[in-house]
Amino acid sequence: MRKIYALLLPLLFLSTLVLAQPASITRVNPTNWWVGMKNPNVQLLVYGPRAGTLTYSVQYPGVKLVKASKVENPNYAFLDLVIAPTAKPGKLQIVGKSGSQTLTRAFELQARDNTPKGQGVTDADFIYLAMPDRFANGDPSNDKFADMRDPSADRASPFLRHGGDLAGAAQHLPYLKDLGVTAIWFTPVLENNQPLTDEGGAQRSSYHGYGFTDHYAIDRRLGGNVGYQAFVRQAHAAGLKVVQDAVYNHVGNTHWFIQDLPMKSWLHQWPTYTNTSYRQQPITDPHASRIDRKVTLDGWFVPFLPDLNQSNPYLANFLIQHAIWTVENFGVDAWRVDTYMYNDQPFMNRCNKALLTEYPRIHLFGESSVNNVVDQSYYVKNNISFPFKSNQPGGLDFVLEGAIVEGLKEGSGPQRMYEALAQDAVYQDPAKLVTFLDNHDHDRYLSTIGEDFDKYKMGLTWLLTTRGIPCMYYGTEILMKNFKNPSDAEVRRDFPGGFAGDTQDKFTAAGRTARENEAFQFVRTLATYRRTHPALSSGQLMQYLPQDGQYVYFRYGPAGTVLVATNSTDKPVALPTARFAERTKGFTKARNVLTGEDLASIAILQLPAKTAVVLELKP
Ligand code: CA
Repeated sequence: MRKIYALLLPLLFLSTLVLAQPASITRVNPTNWWVGMKNPNVQLLVYGPRAGTLTYSVQYPGVKLVKASKVENPNYAFLDLVIAPTAKPGKLQIVGKSGSQTLTRAFELQARDNTPKGQGVTDADFIYLAMPDRFANGDPSNDKFADMRDPSADRASPFLRHGGDLAGAAQHLPYLKDLGVTAIWFTPVLENNQPLTDEGGAQRSSYHGYGFTDHYAIDRRLGGNVGYQAFVRQAHAAGLKVVQDAVYNHVGNTHWFIQDLPMKSWLHQWPTYTNTSYRQQPITDPHASRIDRKVTLDGWFVPFLPDLNQSNPYLANFLIQHAIWTVENFGVDAWRVDTYMYNDQPFMNRCNKALLTEYPRIHLFGESSVNNVVDQSYYVKNNISFPFKSNQPGGLDFVLEGAIVEGLKEGSGPQRMYEALAQDAVYQDPAKLVTFLDNHDHDRYLSTIGEDFDKYKMGLTWLLTTRGIPCMYYGTEILMKNFKNPSDAEVRRDFPGGFAGDTQDKFTAAGRTARENEAFQFVRTLATYRRTHPALSSGQLMQYLPQDGQYVYFRYGPAGTVLVATNSTDKPVALPTARFAERTKGFTKARNVLTGEDLASIAILQLPAKTAVVLELKP
């Protein structure tokens, strides 16, 4: 595929030169900008037949065109503007001239509004991860479009789009709020106008969203730009924040700029198709060879997702400005960054810095799917003397996920969790890591732990009471299960009740089984408590060596102390608390957060078999 692009590019140049048609401008990205941004610079990508052959000028008070750059492909020009603090909102005219031809294109500079944006997520939040196509369908009229490359939608097929959208998710904001969720993270919402693609041996829709085809369009099938703006507004009005899923590493192979590349170095080009090794070590390993590192970083994720070259300054600007534009235009509060470790890390630092400069409270947490703490710390602000220093404030805590879930599966949960957290010294701020038990790429939590309801509650208790920003994958609260067998579509099933014709509606208590209601209430109780209790949402963590299958830790601070005691054995245990005097000092009683029961004494804790108890300590 990469060979084809390399060949295509000179042919396109030739055709544009031979035909010598009048130039035109069909696209300007960003599609608009704002006055009063902290960074006064913006670089416009101007695209259209022979748009790069024009001589540009800009007439607008307070706006200066400082540079117009031509690149290999004559269909592109890059215009560097500087917007003075005195510039007023309005429409400026981009003027392009060539001989007797004069072209104008309006570009809007908007006023910044005061709506919430870039609010960030902290350990006081509880994030809910959902795939919009699989969560709820609020608008059946947008399920499919005949003029898109993949015009299909069919709920009977696990591989095709199912019609879920932002309007559907908006209808269930009260459900999420009731559950105790404070932030929603959708898998990417940008346009994926990709054809059906062979993925894992089956023809699939790009319903997962990771193959962008136009950065400045939200997919019409999810509700388009208007629908996303409306969703964020409604979420904010309901007190929920919105996390957007960023993909900087690659785009879909039918992205408009891939079909007419600005320059060869826009992508990582290889003589023959080269996949990333999917191996983490060459990036952090001080003994790694350059070629191993290059293959990991510059190899393509899959053949239909071309790997962007973020060391290309035009592309880097394009991606960073798009991130800023998205926060300002839609009001998103935080970014989850896809395949963080396969990105050019100096580029990621630039991007993070640009976002944090413009929106100081915003949170950024990348996906670095690694299996050890040293590698994981490389991609966030850390205390290790790596030759490269990441400035990313947070990250997804894959190590803790593995420790908890594999630990629960093997029966060594407390020990594994304890050991993972005992290595937190490598992070500058471990509270900023996003913790989770599964996601759209992993076997579902309930299945991994053998559908053991006691273990299910134990792991969720840890998730919602230990350090970090907890994130739960949709449906966990109603006991959705499955392994990625025969495909990952099994862990991306539709939420029952989100679609017309569903025989069950698990958004309502009446539609859930007794066991599902117990699970829902369990999550709800813990999430609600966490949200309102500062010891859990911002307190420090102290943990004690697990002994005989019992694991005790505390969250504590000026606002209170919470004791979490886990008995992972098959037998009830009476646990004396004298060993924990350092933290129980000054307390004699407690309230059991999960049962509401009051304990007259905490001298000896009665721990049922296979249970984690959460106690708010009282004087
Ligand atoms: Ca729909």
